[in-house]
Amino acid sequence: MRIFSGIQPTGRKHLGNYIGGITQYVAGQERGDPAIYCIVDLHSTTVDYDPSELRARGYDLEALLIAAGLDPDRCVLFRQSDVKEHTELSWLLSSVTALGELQRMHQFRDKSVAQRELVSAGLLFYPVLMAADVLAYRAHEVPVGEDQREHVELMRDVADRFNRRFGETLVVPEARIPEVGARIRDLQDPTRKMSTTGSSEQGTIYVLDEPDAIMRKFKRAVTDSGTDIVRAPDKPGISNLIELLAVIRGTSAEDAEREFADSRYGDFKVAVGEAVVDYLAPVRERYHELRPDEPELERILAAGADRARGMAQETVADVREKMGVGPPQSLA
Ligand code: ATP
Ligand code: MG
Repeated sequence: MRIFSGIQPTGRKHLGNYIGGITQYVAGQERGDPAIYCIVDLHSTTVDYDPSELRARGYDLEALLIAAGLDPDRCVLFRQSDVKEHTELSWLLSSVTALGELQRMHQFRDKSVAQRELVSAGLLFYPVLMAADVLAYRAHEVPVGEDQREHVELMRDVADRFNRRFGETLVVPEARIPEVGARIRDLQDPTRKMSTTGSSEQGTIYVLDEPDAIMRKFKRAVTDSGTDIVRAPDKPGISNLIELLAVIRGTSAEDAEREFADSRYGDFKVAVGEAVVDYLAPVRERYHELRPDEPELERILAAGADRARGMAQETVADVREKMGVGPPQSLA
């Protein structure tokens, strides 16, 4: 079972990324043969970004991933742009990608309206590069949050269309989306997902937030006019907090509802905040130990890229051969 997932180095990672993505990556190390995790810096150039910051944000993310439990000896951890096969494969796959599908992607629609200046072709092309990321490794499973379901569907179509057009070559991967915690919501606007690029500062819990900042944000979390601590479609704020507490404790949402049946909103918000503080504290402490040693972080990425490149090169050679691109494989 090969596992692959990518995560963007833009901005600061939040509790949604942590629960929907990172905890799944850590668990995947047990099952993955191998588990491959990629810091997708090329994806982060598709929206407005600061070039003088991008590399440092990659180190931030890498230190955070290791602090959360990724072990470079038990997984392949690397930076996307170090393995040039991703970009080559994305071009090759574009020939079996439908333009109409790209234009329909929610992420493209949401992020293109949010751009103040240029809406880049890269933003439209994002899911093709993401398809190349995964398909280059012939991964079976892609651990992601709910928002990425659509992109995984698209890469399945791409792989399938390639196999039908050029012959069986690529593995059609499956999304692995957690049952609870796949869509953590913004604490100030629980109709929206917590997001790196689109949510409010006060509604976003960053993994590296200090305890008092976390508590302040939970105390101010938007709830609703009722008093019952139960999940309901018209109670997105309270439902979000119940889900959060359940995933953090590893219990069911029903258990959380039962435990707080007689509590008030205010006390419940404090309880969830305290659980989140305890949950993130060891990660934050370990992060600050790891982050200063950039040469070591760079060394880990280089070693990961060497392993990744070997796998990706095999796939790209097969794809080129099937497509009739370049010299015959026997001479290449
Ligand atoms: P952006 O909003 O700019 O796309 P992001 O917050 O989605 O950024 P990514 O690096 O794109 O960050 O996502 C990393 C992983 O986190 C992905 O698997 C994504 O599905 C997951 N994820 C993102 N937001 C949430 C959320 N609110 N709840 C659960 N999982 C999430
Ligand atoms: Mg995203």
